[in-house]
Amino acid sequence: MKITDVQAVYPRYQHVVPSWRTHFWQIVVRVSTDLGAAGLGYGGGGVAGVEVVNRHFRELLLGREVESVEDIAAIWDYLYQESLPYGRKGLAIMALSGVDLALYDLLGKAQNVPVYEILGGLKKERVLAYATGPDSESYSDLGFLAHKFPHRWSGQESGYKSAWTAANRARELFGAEVRLMIDTYMSWDQDVTLNMHRRLSEFNLYWYEDVLTPDDLPGQAELRSRVAPTLIAGGEHESTHFGFAEVAANGALGLWQPDITWCGGITAGLRIVEMGRKANVPVSPHRGGEVWGLHLIASSDWADLAEFHSDHIREPRDVLWFNEPSPENGYIVANDAPGFGVRLNEAML
Ligand SMILES: [Mg+2]
Repeated sequence: MKITDVQAVYPRYQHVVPSWRTHFWQIVVRVSTDLGAAGLGYGGGGVAGVEVVNRHFRELLLGREVESVEDIAAIWDYLYQESLPYGRKGLAIMALSGVDLALYDLLGKAQNVPVYEILGGLKKERVLAYATGPDSESYSDLGFLAHKFPHRWSGQESGYKSAWTAANRARELFGAEVRLMIDTYMSWDQDVTLNMHRRLSEFNLYWYEDVLTPDDLPGQAELRSRVAPTLIAGGEHESTHFGFAEVAANGALGLWQPDITWCGGITAGLRIVEMGRKANVPVSPHRGGEVWGLHLIASSDWADLAEFHSDHIREPRDVLWFNEPSPENGYIVANDAPGFGVRLNEAML
């Protein structure tokens, strides 16, 4: 089938607080074909991402044939190459992610199979979910069997106490066996991380996430052995397999978290997962409970864990995609409808 149109749209989000972090500037990409099948993808980059798709990628995509995973990979390489002068990381790759995911959705719908089938079929029947956010009690009540809570270092000594209290509360709620993690959103530094580890090691946390900025690869590499067995995790702000090659070369992270709607879609995600396997580093995609990451995780014997952000759990929220699977008893199963298995809420466009 031949691509006849490509359109990116920035949805009309209603339930937002004035922060990039609430809806991540996510965009919708629609790819239409001469055979009638159309694919929908989810990318990032906001109105800038929309411009990249509609004013550049569109003209490169019109008339291209899409019949296979190999065709999609070739398109990815082409768009990456053509956007190199302004791309490589960040907004442009977030936009490219939306195109790549739309092409996977298209291929699934054209073949009448879920995306995980295109990726080789289910490698696990269900994926362990974890809840990300500050409301440990409610996630425990909802039946989550793993949990990540945030901690922001503000420069005050009291931050050590608040982290300990949050970890202690989570451990009390979830019990000794459950995986618990902290996301510091780049607010800790080398010293704070080591001081925190001394205070928190009694809770046996699975990982510390984004303790430094993604540019400080040597700094993160140095921390790894000093906080073991807790892992230094990160990668949601890293782009493509080229970016993760640098992470691997530096030995910077003990667990990788590519965001499939930002890092370059499924195509980049597959390459990153293979790189993780070679480096013997586990991969747990950022927001992996959303279908874009979930299909990759479910079909992979290397990627695992499905993340649910608090914004995806609490009400009221914008429902851009209908038919998204929800975790039950702590696990999530990708639905078997064609493509990514979700329908777009057109009223939000
Ligand atoms: Mg994070």
